[in-house]
Amino acid sequence: MKKRWRIAGETLFLAAALLFAGCAQPMLRPTSTAPATEETTEQRTEEVQSTSAVLETTAPSPETTAPQTPETTVLPVETVEVEGGGQIDIFAKPPLEETIPAGQYAPSALMYHLILEEPYTSLTNLFVRPSEFEEHLQALFSTGCEFLFADEYANTKGRSIILTFDDGYEDNYTEMFPILKKYGAKATIFMITANIDAPGYLTEDMIREMADSGLVQFDSHTVTHPSLTSLSAEGLREQFAGSAQRLCDLTGRYPTAICYPGGTLNDFVIEEAARYYKFGYTTVNSPDTSGCNPLTIPRVRVSRGMSGAAILSRLGWG
Ligand SMILES: [Zn+2]
Repeated sequence: MKKRWRIAGETLFLAAALLFAGCAQPMLRPTSTAPATEETTEQRTEEVQSTSAVLETTAPSPETTAPQTPETTVLPVETVEVEGGGQIDIFAKPPLEETIPAGQYAPSALMYHLILEEPYTSLTNLFVRPSEFEEHLQALFSTGCEFLFADEYANTKGRSIILTFDDGYEDNYTEMFPILKKYGAKATIFMITANIDAPGYLTEDMIREMADSGLVQFDSHTVTHPSLTSLSAEGLREQFAGSAQRLCDLTGRYPTAICYPGGTLNDFVIEEAARYYKFGYTTVNSPDTSGCNPLTIPRVRVSRGMSGAAILSRLGWG
């Protein structure tokens, strides 16, 4: 297993070197998917339908308690009630492959979806109140931690945090972005590229403005948010390369991180992802990323009702 990762890593760095030479690297240009260039009424309808589908698949419960790949999905060891009605699943720490040198820290990643006062679906845990998000930022800044983008995952000299937002909902612009600017914090949005300009999601203009601010980076959450373990190599290529190309065309930056939809993944999916991405983010709920494979980075799930103190406590910083 370890040898295979090393080979995958070498392929990856070769691919990354080619990528940084320019966004339109031919190897990564999709051959059959062009989600945004030719929109028809029919396609629009499909996108709207997929909107509700995504909310279903991003629910905490299906991702963690109804795994489609039982042999690779990690089950929570404990579910904890959060003050205010939220719930978080506690997972065992991923296996350590190496230890961190003294005086260095592995970043922790936080997983958000929506920042909105009033939930518009029954999945209320996904809707973190704007006041709560602001409290999280205040608490994080009080620790003096460094804010990193998803593609900056690496050991640091002090504590560091990676804020991630899944799916690319509209409130990430209307509610989250103003708070981010107020504090000068950095965040990464994992965008479902087929949903760009769909109702409830970010528009092209919003994405450009946020990317141009330097505070937000856009990385991949695939084209259509499928269960990746059910796809062939060709299907995975369309999802990985298609979404990367779309984001690159829009922002001028080739994404080097991906978030696996619904958290479903296996060795084959990870191996294919390594052909296009340097970092992969999962739904495994853990603050401890030390020694993890950079293509299977765990994150702390943030639920509605969590206070700033609760965030620090969950990170082990309280
Ligand atoms: Zn998602």
